[in-house]
Amino acid sequence: MEEMGPLKLYFIHFLAAGHMIPLCDIATLFASRGHNVTIITTPSNAQVLRKSIPSHPLLRLHAVHFPSQEAGLPDGIENISSVEDAENLAKMFHATAMLQPPIEEFVEQHPPDCIVADFLFPWVDELANKLCIPRLAFNGFSLFTICAAWHLGPASLIGRSAQEKAERGQKSVVSVEECLTWLDSKRVESVVYICFGSLCHFPDKQLQEIACGIEASGHEFIWVVPEKKGKENERQEEKEKWLPKGFEEKEKGMIIRGWAPQLLILNHHAVGAFLTHCGWNSTVEAVTAGIPMLTWPVHGEQFYNEKLITQVRGIGVEVGAAEWTSIGFGERHKLVTRDSIQNAITRLMDAGDEATQIRRRAKEFAQKARKAVKEGGSSHNNLTALIHDLKRLRDAKLL
Ligand code: UDP
Repeated sequence: MEEMGPLKLYFIHFLAAGHMIPLCDIATLFASRGHNVTIITTPSNAQVLRKSIPSHPLLRLHAVHFPSQEAGLPDGIENISSVEDAENLAKMFHATAMLQPPIEEFVEQHPPDCIVADFLFPWVDELANKLCIPRLAFNGFSLFTICAAWHLGPASLIGRSAQEKAERGQKSVVSVEECLTWLDSKRVESVVYICFGSLCHFPDKQLQEIACGIEASGHEFIWVVPEKKGKENERQEEKEKWLPKGFEEKEKGMIIRGWAPQLLILNHHAVGAFLTHCGWNSTVEAVTAGIPMLTWPVHGEQFYNEKLITQVRGIGVEVGAAEWTSIGFGERHKLVTRDSIQNAITRLMDAGDEATQIRRRAKEFAQKARKAVKEGGSSHNNLTALIHDLKRLRDAKLL
């Protein structure tokens, strides 16, 4: 395929030498490959950068006003590495936070194809989202640091009674008995469990697509819908707005309005698939229960989790979500259609060759997860090692 023209990239470094130097070096790499790069910085950091980065026609600096006076900092102190006391350090953080509006204004007036910003600037996510461009987060930690922490878990596997499982995090709005009685009356692996975690609120239009998608699939389901606040009668009206006519009367499933006993449900033999937002806890809980997933990522790192589930591990099917949104009640522009939902459910629940393989792999991973937390398993050994190290540190202090 013919390559399109050069990219226009903005780099936003954090105001500390250890963050600024490597990110600006990376920016230089992009310019040396023929892409248009602008490093967004402040006046005194720009002076430093002009001397330290190679001069290149595609590499530009854009300095935004640094609010020294507003933050009460001496002129020219625009980098944490030049700060010598705690008071000025706090002022530096304050001044750094104040850079958000002028940077946003510049970026919005001249939008790039991509923003690469230090991970300490989480607000850049919103900005990139608004402009519909990718945002890459620069994190200068060594990979070894991240990979060599003690790997524990899946922690959700610790022994719990049914009641304890039902009350993890919050009290479930349905009783254990009601839930189990309903599930007990269903065939093995026949029910689709649908839940989008604790933070995701879909608009009514999307809820309606989900309802129509499940209905068209013909499968039975448990669907967790976050309860909207308000008086009971208002809730009733809201409910009617998005449920197709006669949906509840068909009694094909259970709608749980509020907190559901997820762990209990996932571990019931009647459940055959989990339509999930790919939150990491939900993902691990599905893996440990051996339940294949219908993936519908929404925010955070969930699109990566989806790829891990479907393309890397082969234990799920993508529903076709194409829009990342930040946590909250933000507007969504791209609905996942009833057809996509129905197709994904059918692909996984109607026991074709692909579904059989996915189900087999999901069960294998559940075995591995259980082995990891048993005595002699990796999580068990890592926890032993961690406790041992902590004791060693404590005892060394006592000597
Ligand atoms: N959860 C639950 N009942 C619900 C909704 C969520 O028990 O009705 C639990 C779920 O089992 C998981 C956690 O809440 O342990 C959600 O974490 P996750 O990382 O999956 O998603 P988030 O809520 O952070 O988006």
